[in-house]
Order: sequence, then C-alpha cells, then structure tokens
Amino acid sequence: MKLNLNSVKQPPKVHIFFDLDETLISGPNHWKSAAANAIHSLTNHQIYKNSGGISKPEYVHNFLRWNPEESAKLKKELGGLTGKKFTDEQVFLFKVLRDEIYNKNSNDLKQFDKLIKKTNTNIKNIKPLVKVAVDAYHDQTEKNIQSGVLSANKGAVDAIKELLNLGATVSIATKGYDDKQKRKVNEVLFKSENNLRSKIPVFTTEKKLIWIRKVGEKTPAFYQSLKRKIGAKKTDFLVYIGDRHDSDIIPAKKAGFFTIHIPGRRDKEYLDGIKQSDADILASNIPSAMDELKSKLRVGR
Ligand SMILES: [Mg+2]
Repeated sequence: MKLNLNSVKQPPKVHIFFDLDETLISGPNHWKSAAANAIHSLTNHQIYKNSGGISKPEYVHNFLRWNPEESAKLKKELGGLTGKKFTDEQVFLFKVLRDEIYNKNSNDLKQFDKLIKKTNTNIKNIKPLVKVAVDAYHDQTEKNIQSGVLSANKGAVDAIKELLNLGATVSIATKGYDDKQKRKVNEVLFKSENNLRSKIPVFTTEKKLIWIRKVGEKTPAFYQSLKRKIGAKKTDFLVYIGDRHDSDIIPAKKAGFFTIHIPGRRDKEYLDGIKQSDADILASNIPSAMDELKSKLRVGR
C-alpha cells in the first residue's frame, strides 16, 4: 500500500497571543511617573520657555482659576514618583494630559504633541519638544523597570507556563517598538524566568522604513499577519487576550481570533456592565480567564 502523505492529517493546534501592556505587565504609577517626567523636561526646554508656556486663552483662564489645593496635591504626588520638583504650570499640564488626552487616546507617543498644540498657540516647530518629552518618558520607563514600578500581573507567568504545558504555542503581540517591548518582556515579565524568554516570540507593530522606525496601529491586518508569522494552518484555533476593547478585541475578532477581554483600568466600564464587550470571554483577571479558556478548549476537542 502506498502511503498518501496528504491523508495524514495534522491535528489543529492552539495558538495563544497575549497583548503586553496592562494585560501581562502593569504598574499603576508607571504612566503617571513617565508622563510627569516628560512634561517636566518639555516645559524646561528653552523653546517652550520662550513661547510663554500655556498661551491658549481658555487654558490660561483655567490655569489661573485652578484650585490651589489640587495643584499642591499633584505636586506632592508627582514629585514623590519622579524625585523632581514640579511647578503649578507643570502639574496643570499633567492634569490636562491625564483628563483630556490620555483617557481618550492611548497612542502615547502622540500625547505630548497633542498637549502642546492644545495649550500653546506660539510654538511653530513642536518636533524638538516632542522628542524631549518622549525621551524623558522612556528614561522614566527604564527607571520603572529597574525599580519594579512596572511588574508582571498576577498569574501572567503561570498562565503562560500552563498553556505551553497544554501544547499551545504562546506569543506576545503588542503595539510598540521591537526593542522596547522585548526589553519589557525580558526584564519585567520574565525577570526571574530565564528559560521562558526564548520560548515566547514577541511581535510588535513597529514598521521599519529605510531610515526611520514607526509604531503602527493594531489593525485587523496586524492580527492577520500574526497567523502567517507563526505559520498557523486554517484549521488552527487562534486566541487573542488583551485589556483593550478597541485595539485588542475588535480588530482581533475581525481577523478571526477567539478573543478574551481582561479589561484594564481604562476599560473598567466593560467589567461594571456599563459597556458590553464583544469578546468571546470577558474576565476580570488572568487566572479566571485561563479557567474559562481551558474549559472552552476541552469542549472544542
Ligand atoms: Mg494593552
């Protein structure tokens, strides 16, 4: 009898992809300290000082009428997190960034660009200032990695180990620059797990153009590309686990993934039932997401 190789069916595989920031690692004070450090540097820059600082009329108005107690409280908090001294103007800008820009848009490298445009009418070339801010943001990120302000979420490493033991492939698919995200994976998530580092591929949205690097968005096409990158077959079962409904769940679902939503602080409404998640599984933390996923995998096989 001739063996027909085409008739030897490979069993479907399970491929699990995790988002990184807020899903596997987090730090309640990470963004706060990094953004505060960025504002501190940008406002100390000569270009900013020469421009007269906050100059858009409505913001000048709000700044002058701002509650001094709230200002004093923020100064103390941000000073404690960064070890720097903050002025009234700096903490006011922090408040604008936090309340009017950050909550609505997670595209963190654009946030300083927006902050300057929103509050200042005199600066024509904002690029050098944005660079100063982004560099300071990354400096603080480095400090937060070393100090443990940024750390692995409860159950994250155990979940990865368990999924590997069950025979699934596990990868991380995240928005951001390759080197920065890989460094966080190695130094924060797998801080004391040397053997896991080589087993978990990390895919990012970084686009390498000829002379510049760009961070792309997590579009359905990005999720599609993940399938090719790990060589998934059409019959394989693909799972994406993330904290954001807009950039994790919706586009991954469009690309055909089974989705698990573990809402972070910014997606709290989904856990509270105020908003309805389109994810296949909605869970409040990694261990309960794993329980539901495992029962789903048992049913499916
Ligand atoms: Mg995230």
